[in-house]
This record gives sequence, C-alpha cells and structure tokens, in this order.
Amino acid sequence: MKDILSMLPEEIAQEFKAMGLPAFRAKQVSQWLARGVASFEEMQNLPLDLRSRLCELYGIYRPAVLRKQVSAKDGTIKYLWGLEDGNAVETVVMKYRYGNTVCISTQVGCRQGCAFCASTIGGLVRQMEPSEMLNEVLCSQLDSGEKISHVVLMGTGEPLDNFDNVMRFLSLLNHPEGFNLSLRHVSLSTCGLIERFTDLAERDLQLTLAVSLHAPDDETRTKIMPANRGRGVDALMKACRQYTETTGRRVSFEYAMIDGVNDTETHARLLVQRAKEVGAHVNLIPLNHVEESRYRPSTQGHLKAFIRILEESGVNVTVRRRLGSDIDASCGQLRRKFEKSREK
Ligand code: SAH
Repeated sequence: MKDILSMLPEEIAQEFKAMGLPAFRAKQVSQWLARGVASFEEMQNLPLDLRSRLCELYGIYRPAVLRKQVSAKDGTIKYLWGLEDGNAVETVVMKYRYGNTVCISTQVGCRQGCAFCASTIGGLVRQMEPSEMLNEVLCSQLDSGEKISHVVLMGTGEPLDNFDNVMRFLSLLNHPEGFNLSLRHVSLSTCGLIERFTDLAERDLQLTLAVSLHAPDDETRTKIMPANRGRGVDALMKACRQYTETTGRRVSFEYAMIDGVNDTETHARLLVQRAKEVGAHVNLIPLNHVEESRYRPSTQGHLKAFIRILEESGVNVTVRRRLGSDIDASCGQLRRKFEKSREK
C-alpha cells in the first residue's frame, strides 16, 4: 500500500484527479492528514465508498508511543515511537523561552560511528521515510498538547545520509497545506558529509546548517569521527564557506567538550581560526556520558577556560543548556536501552 503521508498535497491532488475524483476531495484528505487522523474511516466528510476505496490504495501509518518520559526538572519530554515494522526511534520535545523545539531522528540507527555517540552503536538499521519524520513532529505535538514551533534534525541518524527522504520531509513540514512550519525554524545537523553540501545549498532552504565539528584538526577529529577520514577539516571548512556564499546563511559548529580529547588550549585556538575562516557561530555542548563509552565530559574549569579563549578572540559562542538530564534525553540513549532490553 502506498504511504500517503509521504505524499505532497499536490501529488495527492494529481492522483485523485487521475482517479476521476473532484479536486476538493484531495483537499479534504490533506486537511485530515495534517490534523493527524490515523485512518480514512475518521474522514467524516468523505462518502463511505470513497473511504473504503482509499483504504485499499493507501496506508496511513502513525507510530505508537512505546515509552514516554517527562523531566521533572524542566518539562522536557522524550518519546520512544514504535514504527510499523517493529523498529523504534526517539524524539525529544524541549521547552525554550522562544517556543517548543522538537528534536527528531532521521534514520533508524546510524552508520557514522562517532566514538562518543550512543545512536551509532548498533549501526544503521534502515532509512526513515518522510512520513515517519513528519509523524515525529505531528504526533509529538498532538500527544503533548504543546505547539511545536521549531524542529532540529539532531536525533538519531545522519540527515544527509538519507538525503532524498529528508528533503521530502522538509517540503511536507513547510507545506502550507501540511504542517506549515517556516524552515527558518529548522536546524539540520550533519557530521560533515560534504559531498551533499552543494546539493543542499542549491535548494536554497532557509534552514540553519549545523556542522558537528567536535575537533578543529584532522588528528583529533578522525579519532572521534570516522566520517572525517577521506574528507578532512580543510575540505569541510571550504564546503562550509561555499554553503554560506550560495545561501547567504551562516553555519554553526557543534562542539561537544570531551575531557582530555578536544578541550585543550591548543584546540581552542585552532577552533578560533576555523570559526573565523567560516564566520561560524560555535555551540559548545557539555558531553553527555554514554554508558558504553570511555569518554567523559570536560571539567568545569576546562570548559570555562575554553569559552574564555573563544570569547576573547571575538568568536560568537553559546553553551547548550542540558535539558532532560534526568530522563536519558541525550542522543539515542532511550532507544539503546530499549534495544538492549529486547536482546535479553
Ligand atoms: N548525524 C548528525 C545529527 C545527529 S547528532 C550529526 O552528526 O550532526 C546531533 C548532535 O549531537 C551532533 O552534534 C552529535 O555529534 C552530538 N552528540 C552525539 N553524541 C553526543 C554526546 N554523547 N554528547 C553530546 N553531544 C553528542
């Protein structure tokens, strides 16, 4: 059966037209879908025979809530969704002053192998469909009752390794007859698959590109991020500059502070150069400890010294707040626990 939630409203309209249906039927269906209905039976303004005809042609796949954790500290909500084929993905809803942000997964698992990340431990299971990513946003909003105003592609998976599906998801998210969210409120985070940057830039989306840099030199970066091999930091910086030239939008660097690995003064000074080369904003992330990993977060002292060097050099730097620390809200840890409990 065809996955109708991955279709754009105009594609639905085209197919309905080919079936000889009047134009307003497609509009009605798109409206119901955007509201989050889980079946054609619920589409009360469609004739019964049309509902059953559509049931045979199209599937509406909505995920089930397998787990839901709410942080007592800051209201952060973490969902583990069960997908149609039995796989599970996680989504986090975070409350900020400027609105509610949902952090979504883009792949089931991940093949990038970053040494500090829980999402990659079991490797890539499969790509996520556009509808599945859209459901992460829509179903989080419906279940939590919290209006979602911002979306970050910073959950499990590498968005640029699922390029076509992610681009289609963004069209659905942005569509006036779909979720209708401005792409200015979207950040896409990548480990630096530079071969995709031109393609992304040419689409001229208004989103923010966040690059997970985590180290300013090849030696350190390759050690913690296998994706650096064969690409390299110089090439990454060049790709970032080109992206900014084409789109007019600044990129930001994500930098997880790891004790004794990437948090020395030398790293800070090199990072200053890199950020200036590209005109990038730097977002420092206190490392979330992952059970299976030997890496530890930097000490407060090192973090402060690092920030001071960046600030004194005029680099625009922020430190990410830790939200949901009481509910395993970091990077793939809930799904990881779920998978481990299934293995037993
Ligand atoms: N694959 C994409 C997006 C997913 S991860 C990417 O690499 O950017 C989102 C961010 O969380 C990335 O910057 C990633 O490097 C970071 N991250 C992963 N594990 C982390 C951990 N244990 N602590 C802090 N940040 C982590």
